Amino acid sequence: MTTSPQLSTALSDSLSSQKRKYENSPSATNDPDAKRVKCSKLPFSKSIGHEIVDLYVGAEQELFRIHKQVLCRRIPYFSSMFSSSFREAQEATAQFPEDRPESFDILLEWVYLGRLRKLVSIDNDGKRNYDPYALYILLDKLRLPNLMDHLADMIIEHHRATNKSISPRTIVNIYQNTSPGCPLRKYCLQRLQNSIAHPHPGGGYNPRWKVILRENEDLLDDYLKLQCASANKLFSCLATGTSPCEYHSHGVEEVCTVGQVLSDHEDVSI
Ligand SMILES: [Zn+2]
Repeated sequence: MTTSPQLSTALSDSLSSQKRKYENSPSATNDPDAKRVKCSKLPFSKSIGHEIVDLYVGAEQELFRIHKQVLCRRIPYFSSMFSSSFREAQEATAQFPEDRPESFDILLEWVYLGRLRKLVSIDNDGKRNYDPYALYILLDKLRLPNLMDHLADMIIEHHRATNKSISPRTIVNIYQNTSPGCPLRKYCLQRLQNSIAHPHPGGGYNPRWKVILRENEDLLDDYLKLQCASANKLFSCLATGTSPCEYHSHGVEEVCTVGQVLSDHEDVSI
């Protein structure tokens, strides 16, 4: 996404002060007041406000026109962006040329409805109704870890249901567009390890892995670390057989909020 240099710095400062795991976000705490505080007795039309912001997404600059109040309430990134003194706030407009309109469509559906669109197959080959990885990368950019975790669960469940492996191209895409420590990187890595250890019947050694590992230093580094860590374990331990929070953003001791995504929204007046 493209922002002015000053705004990028301001957003970076603002967002980096929030810990990556968003320990302070209301939905990631046990504080019962966190939900109550968002309840409003305002009429719906008043609660969404009158101000509109325009988001232009993708190379074709597809326009998404959305209530500023709702958007900023749901996504702190936009709150920082449209509350600043920079161009985006003055013009109530922002450009996201590198992102996909499809991902924004799903994101804004969640902003208004509080539901993340289901991930389903639309043909017998397991083709999905949308690209969950592009959406995950967008959520990572916008710092929405609870939603990322919810989406990660949907991706993994879809893999289980369709018995599909994760493609080399997808693994590279995730590694090139997320930061070190991203939970989905961990999942990709374990699937990669499993694919190499257990190729499809008749598949055998795939020379593409060599190219991928050579061209992606982070992936190679993580892969070697994983090999060291699991040297004494059996390869038959599948990545999908682990804890339900294995690929979530929150810490081991923290409460998992994935199951609260819908119930939280019911308490939020938009
Ligand atoms: Zn969790």
